[in-house]
Amino acid sequence: MSSRAFLCWNCRTCYRADIHTETELRRCAQCGQELAWVSHRVRVPPKDDAAAWRALQTDLAKRAGERSRAQAVRSVRRQHEIERQLADIRSRPSNVGRRSLIRELEKELASLRGHK
Ligand SMILES: [Zn+2]
Repeated sequence: MSSRAFLCWNCRTCYRADIHTETELRRCAQCGQELAWVSHRVRVPPKDDAAAWRALQTDLAKRAGERSRAQAVRSVRRQHEIERQLADIRSRPSNVGRRSLIRELEKELASLRGHK
């Protein structure tokens, strides 16, 4: 299933949409605020349960923080791996294949470093 839910924290409204309408559904129809994308598996609280909505918002923010931390760790690991690979390749005699591999690895390394 590709369906997702879009939440407006302001109106405590949930919009359901499939993948085809995702690009159009970015703002709340009632207040114009940007909608939050959540998995369709997320349990959406009843509209009048403000505390549950706040808890959901906090929980999602926390999870997003954990995800980006995990991503940062993976990125650093990959950078070290590339650095090791580059040192290894550079210690060998240069040839066309190795030079292009070095360029590719350097490009990946630069983009990883830029994503901090
Ligand atoms: Zn709204």
